[in-house]
Amino acid sequence: MVDKDCIFCKLAGGEIPASSLYEDEKFRIILDANPATKGHALILPKQHYKNIFEIDEETLRDLIVLGKKLAGIMKERLGCDGVNLIQNNGEAAGQTVPHFHLHVIPRYADDGQDILWKPGISDPAVQEELVKKLSF
Ligand code: 5GP
Ligand code: ZN
Repeated sequence: MVDKDCIFCKLAGGEIPASSLYEDEKFRIILDANPATKGHALILPKQHYKNIFEIDEETLRDLIVLGKKLAGIMKERLGCDGVNLIQNNGEAAGQTVPHFHLHVIPRYADDGQDILWKPGISDPAVQEELVKKLSF
C-alpha cells in the first residue's frame, strides 16, 4: 500500500525527485535532506509501513541486508571511521516522518555529532522485573 499523502511514499516512488543512490522493486535509498554527517542516507521501503510494528519480516530482512551493503560502500568510498544504523519508531523515539525508514549515518572521528544516549544507572530490582516482563 502506498499513502498518497506521505512524503516518503512520494520520494520512494520517484514522484518527487531525490538524491537517489539505489533503487529496486521494494526500496529506494536517498540522501537525507538534513544530514547529520556527510553521506547520511535513508533506506525507504516503497510500500507505506508507519513503523517497526507494521513492517513485515521479509521486507525487514531485505532492508537490513541493504543497510549492510550501504555501510560497506560508505566505509570504502567515503573513508568513514564508523557507521550508525538508526531507526526511530514513534514521536517519543524521535520519529518525525511516519513512514518506516532506516538511517545509515557515516561517522567520522571529528564529525562533532552527538548521536549516542546518556548512559543511566541500573537498579538490580528493576532489571529483575524487566527480565520477567520482557523474556520471550
Ligand atoms: P526521523 O526523525 O523520522 O527518524 O527521520 C526523518 C528524516 O527524514 C530526517 O533526518 C529528515 O532530515 C529527513 N527528511 C525529512 N523530509 C525529507 C525530504 O523531503 N527529503 C529528504 N531527502 N529527507 C527528508
Ligand atoms: Zn509512506
